[in-house]
Amino acid sequence: MALTEFDIIRRWFTPARAGAGVRTGVGDDGAVLAPPPGRELVVVTDTLVEGVHFLRGTDPADLGYRLLAVNLSDLAAMGAEPAWFTLNLTVPAAGAAWFEGFAAGLGALARRWDMDLVGGDTCRGPCVLSLTAAGTVPPGQALGRGGGRPGDGLYVTGTLGDAAAGLACLRGERRGDACKALVQRFLRPEPRVAAGLALRGLASACIDVSDGLAADLGHLLAAGGCGAVVEVEAVPVSPELARHEPDPERRLALALGGGDDYELCFSVPPGAEDRLAAAAEAAGVGFTRIGELVPQPGLVLRHADGSPCPPPAGWTHFGEAAG
Ligand code: ADP
Ligand code: MG
Repeated sequence: MALTEFDIIRRWFTPARAGAGVRTGVGDDGAVLAPPPGRELVVVTDTLVEGVHFLRGTDPADLGYRLLAVNLSDLAAMGAEPAWFTLNLTVPAAGAAWFEGFAAGLGALARRWDMDLVGGDTCRGPCVLSLTAAGTVPPGQALGRGGGRPGDGLYVTGTLGDAAAGLACLRGERRGDACKALVQRFLRPEPRVAAGLALRGLASACIDVSDGLAADLGHLLAAGGCGAVVEVEAVPVSPELARHEPDPERRLALALGGGDDYELCFSVPPGAEDRLAAAAEAAGVGFTRIGELVPQPGLVLRHADGSPCPPPAGWTHFGEAAG
């Protein structure tokens, strides 16, 4: 028997208990939410479209995880503490197994960050998965893209390029024993929420790396009205990617141009090195200095010895990033 919209909401998307600050959750015409006194709300949203953002046949548990993870990454980039989310599902006729898997992947990540589902919409149609999440920050403390100034150090969390290599493995374009770990990084990105929280009051600007470092750094530079010099040898890659792609130029192309890593890229005014080390420790992820902001607009790549580095061959995003 076909599942109705109401069966779906009741079985998979009605939380068993009301979460913190949820006066009214799923089941009414709207959610009534009480942010902690004095805090500001940060609201983010992201959509995954079948055939555009994910391949048909993707495990629904991976989709549920990913849909929340990409929104958590936006909250992280704003320095917000995750609180609530709503879920808009448009799916073709799907059976119980699909919803069961999707809700399990989504729910596991929601529990990890103590987030509550408070509403949504459920429709039949081509597969489009959309989520809106809200978090909170102390007044005036949200991070933004626009605060970077010349002389600030430029940093990234974690490592870059794995997800792009993982997607190529999934498509059968790359092979090797590192593929399993790389595919996992594509399917289950780790949102850097703890890093975003630790960077409040410390980073001058912050953005999450969803479209590739060069492209997203380009947004941070444009918003701040400055440029950057990046030292290519400093751009951090995982041991798996180093093993999988031994050619330094091709590896750099993945690390600078590959999307979907969901690391944070941020700038920090000089003189905060000790606090930054403590923040990385608190966040449980490495912060790597990759360069510096400069007055001259655009992105300049350099080697460690100061000599210029040409853009990696086959890397088409360079013009956009520099613009
Ligand atoms: P309305 O007709 O008022 O839009 P719906 O029938 O669409 O209400 O939804 C009923 C209730 O279920 C609402 O509280 C709505 O927020 C919630 N809801 C609908 N779809 C979802 C979903 N996918 N996840 C969580 N809550 C949902
Ligand atoms: Mg509705």
